[in-house]
Amino acid sequence: MRKCNVCKQKRPDWFFKTPKNKTCRKCEYRWWRHILRLMVRERKLTPLERMSSRIGYMGTGFLIAGQWTIEPMLYIAGFSCVIIQVIVRRQWNLVALQLNGLIAWTIHLLKNI
Ligand SMILES: [Zn+2]
Repeated sequence: MRKCNVCKQKRPDWFFKTPKNKTCRKCEYRWWRHILRLMVRERKLTPLERMSSRIGYMGTGFLIAGQWTIEPMLYIAGFSCVIIQVIVRRQWNLVALQLNGLIAWTIHLLKNI
């Protein structure tokens, strides 16, 4: 039995998270944390999502390289790769962004030929 330093009640040891804790679990409980924990469900990625995630990383590499070299082909490769990932994830605002970049850099490439 230990005495909580917040509610001043004597409670059994299992009521405290760690042996050194001086505040009992009941006093540590926060309703906001509880709701957040309920809202987030642990979820594993499907093989398609995992594959598209890797392609997305590759695309990010191309985009980073493109921003240092201003090479249209790198931008087009980067946007094409990242667009696969955002389509699989159904992040349509990012799809619009990637599509815009893809079209813009394709036009840029065609003008310079
Ligand atoms: Zn307490």
